[in-house]
Amino acid sequence: MNKNIEDVYSEIRADLQGALLRPGDLDYGRAAPVWNGMFDRRPALLARCKDVTDIQTCLRAARGSRVITAVRCGGHSLAGFSTCDDGLVIDLSALRSVRVDGSARKARFGGGCLLGTIDSATQTAGLAFPAGVVSHTGAGGLVLGGGTGWLSRLYGLSCDNVEGFTLITADGSVLRADSKENPDLFWALRGGGGNFGVVTEFEVRLYPVSSVILGRGLCVRDSIVPLLQYWRAFMPDAPDNLRWGFSLRNGDGVKGLQDAKGLQDAKGLPVASTSALWVGDRTHGMKYVEHALAATKHRDVSIQEMSFMTLQTLADSDFPHGRRYYTKSGYFQTLRDGVIHKMIESLATMPSKFSEIELAYLGAAPGRVAADETAFGDRSAPFVVNILSNWEAANDDAANLAWTRDLFNQLRPAMVPGVYVNFMSGDEGDRVPEAYRNRWERLRAIKAKYDPRNFFCLNQNIPPQETT
Ligand SMILES: Cc1cc2nc3c(=O)[nH]c(=O)nc-3n(C[C@H](O)[C@H](O)[C@H](O)COP(=O)(O)OP(=O)(O)OC[C@H]3O[C@@H](n4cnc5c(N)ncnc54)[C@H](O)[C@@H]3O)c2cc1C
Repeated sequence: MNKNIEDVYSEIRADLQGALLRPGDLDYGRAAPVWNGMFDRRPALLARCKDVTDIQTCLRAARGSRVITAVRCGGHSLAGFSTCDDGLVIDLSALRSVRVDGSARKARFGGGCLLGTIDSATQTAGLAFPAGVVSHTGAGGLVLGGGTGWLSRLYGLSCDNVEGFTLITADGSVLRADSKENPDLFWALRGGGGNFGVVTEFEVRLYPVSSVILGRGLCVRDSIVPLLQYWRAFMPDAPDNLRWGFSLRNGDGVKGLQDAKGLQDAKGLPVASTSALWVGDRTHGMKYVEHALAATKHRDVSIQEMSFMTLQTLADSDFPHGRRYYTKSGYFQTLRDGVIHKMIESLATMPSKFSEIELAYLGAAPGRVAADETAFGDRSAPFVVNILSNWEAANDDAANLAWTRDLFNQLRPAMVPGVYVNFMSGDEGDRVPEAYRNRWERLRAIKAKYDPRNFFCLNQNIPPQETT
């Protein structure tokens, strides 16, 4: 039976405890938009599910219909997967409870949590969950895709720190996935994204972190190349406690540059913003952070001891809701001089001052997890490059997309196969098998077992293996 949206609406409305919004409803205008302004879509139904039963109601109504269904946690999918035109959105924003067990260093949090919700709760016990760097990002999409952030080198990816999931599959069943129950699903959910069901609860490990040391500074034009050369040689032997990375920008887009003493000359020039984070012993850490900032001549240097909460919200205002965003990402085994030069040269033609090229070195704890231990992609190439374009006006779409794609195409030959699904755009479906590589067929078989009709298809999609 194929139901249409009116039938789905009637069925959900009869049973849903949470609000069911349609275009024209009072709260619809506030509830419908997602973070990426490129995806200004108009779902026909937005179901704010209150609990497991509400989600089951939505799944029962939408299953077997022609109605496309999106699942939304924080709405931060770079690819715009958590919205759709004319379909149903299962909105999990009411599922934001967090329970912390301080003595066991564990937490359970709801499938609609933002990172900031989790940090606020875990920090009351002086504990932290390794996740992303912007507090308004949703944990649902981030953890299911992998999850990297300030603490990853020391404590692993977010998905490496999940001990169990509770999820509802397309047929409405509530399942537990952990190392003992449904271990195939447990493996797939750690990196496989939203392909297998709606996760209502994550059970995770926490670590004692309440303050950190963060060193920051700016390197301009000619000093960037030697800095990155030094960094690429230094990081393979750096302690896990050190997370040292860069954001390459055009000087016009560097916050506070105009006011910074001696930096007015950097306007319009390539600038590398360095951040060197130390988590752990203060005295030891100070030496490393100072060393990173002394590697080449940095200007506007600051070294601060700050609370973990401050760290976690530092970048929030750099990525406001509603701007237009487009990303391309890849891994490098090593960062050759040619790649460094291409990235720096590209800054001169970057159409938006808000855009950046983010450089990170992973390795460390994530790199010690075997490639087949979780569905998350291969961890053997430690250099990560994310081209993060963002701009304000729709008129500028073409120029920004073209710039991003052009730089990516130039860098692509030097990349190793593989990509992190959460940093892919919506037009990169052809790269999904590349993201999972030799885990692809195993994932497709698990998809066939738990979602044979590919009901959960608004994601970096893993189509079910065909059964004969
Ligand atoms: C500003 C910003 C900063 C970011 N920083 C980082 C970072 O530091 N580290 C990092 O690793 N990534 C980062 N990302 C990428 C981020 O991991 C993805 O965008 C992720 O999808 C965001 O999760 P969300 O829950 O907000 O997504 P949503 O848009 O709500 O959902 C995206 C998809 O995730 C799935 N999904 C979400 N919740 C559930 C659930 N409970 N059950 C089942 N499926 C679900 C669905 O398939 C959905 O389509 C960042 C993104 C943004 C926009």
